[in-house]
Amino acid sequence: MEKIRMTTPLVEMDGDEMTRILWKMIKDELILPFVELNTEYYDLGLPHRDETGDQVTMDAALANKKYGVAVKCATITPNAQRVEEYKLHEMWKSPNGTIRAVLDGTVFRAPIMIDSIKPAVRSWKKPITIARHAYGDVYKCSEIRVPGAGTAELRFTDAAGNTTTRKIFEFTDCGGILQGQYNKDDSIANFARSCFNYALDAKQDLWFGAKDTISKQYDHTFKDIFQEIYDAEYKAKFEAAGISYFYSLIDDIVARVIRSEGGFIWACKNYDGDVMSDMVSTAFGSLAMMTSVLVSPDGKYEYEAAHGTVTRHYYRWLKGEATSTNPVATIFAWSGALRKRGELDGLAALAAFGDKLEAATLQTLNDGIMTKDLCGLAEGITPTAVDSEGFIKAIRARLEQLLAA
Ligand code: NAP
Ligand code: MG
Repeated sequence: MEKIRMTTPLVEMDGDEMTRILWKMIKDELILPFVELNTEYYDLGLPHRDETGDQVTMDAALANKKYGVAVKCATITPNAQRVEEYKLHEMWKSPNGTIRAVLDGTVFRAPIMIDSIKPAVRSWKKPITIARHAYGDVYKCSEIRVPGAGTAELRFTDAAGNTTTRKIFEFTDCGGILQGQYNKDDSIANFARSCFNYALDAKQDLWFGAKDTISKQYDHTFKDIFQEIYDAEYKAKFEAAGISYFYSLIDDIVARVIRSEGGFIWACKNYDGDVMSDMVSTAFGSLAMMTSVLVSPDGKYEYEAAHGTVTRHYYRWLKGEATSTNPVATIFAWSGALRKRGELDGLAALAAFGDKLEAATLQTLNDGIMTKDLCGLAEGITPTAVDSEGFIKAIRARLEQLLAA
């Protein structure tokens, strides 16, 4: 069979530990035999980040900006223990943070669903994708522990020296706590555009909730910016695609999410997204079945798995044990990136390959062949537990059939 051709290079970011082992298995078994793979390769493995003074991460992020689509392996974010373990020159910053800063994007997390793993919420039939605004609010706030009686004020001084002051609270009988938060119009607008673009791509409705009734300036501004951008730039496109944008109070949205069938994108302010993404991913089953894509407001994409480098499995693998690490989210990072590259370059065969790789993976799981982490979650079937290699080989057999058909 002739291999599927590519034109524009895909930016490939290799990573660390167990996911680096899976990365090579996935490429060797599921991609290279079928695709004339054209990638620009960046090794974001921690030893190479250290050798290059982390320049390789910046280079990879800029390549992502230039070519538009990247696929990334999980990487170690160093802490003190890793500095010791890898004899690092510095405690390098999180690669994901660096890439996010360059692309100024929003992270979308979506669960991969299979028949035998039922969501904890009975009504959920389709995936719920969470989009978290990863900028500002409580994550960049300033706080004061108030020791006793006194006056708290909020003051803004503009460039010309004019001030606006609001009294927050008069502490009289005892002390308390104070917090100042901010966000920026352009960051909120970028967040909104990333969400609207993603919804159009996925052909799914977009929901957004904030507390605008209580927070008449702060949260109301989020609501207003979303609405202005929707009306001016996206309304017609949404109507043509048959999807909708829906805003409501955050508490109403939470109640509707639980009653829903799923199948939509839920845009969340920073804190809401932090909390709700953990709730939604747990309710759908497993972190190993969660994909993640960073989307910039000007339409650049970086695909990855939501989980980390699975260190505990790697240490067992180093001792020569076969591990049953789940490669599904990493396979879906590859399929998502190849499909997007195919769509952008008008290569129907490449886009179709992404679909077939996903179909072969789901078929393997639905046939009951799964890694150990899923066996305990599966209902209504008798699963066969396999190691990572056996699982990937089982997917390959099904992929070959789908490609031959
Ligand atoms: P983790 O790698 O996600 O693993 C935590 C645990 O979850 C594992 O020990 C394993 O449980 C289970 N698990 C996660 N993914 C799995 C998979 N694919 N298959 C089977 N089980 C899976 O999180 P971590 O141990 O907290 O972090 C390890 C390293 O990853 C850290 O250095 C961190 O900096 C990095 N990290 C990177 C990213 C990223 O690049 N996006 C994200 C998060 C963390 P059992 O051991 O019980 O089987
Ligand atoms: Mg969280």
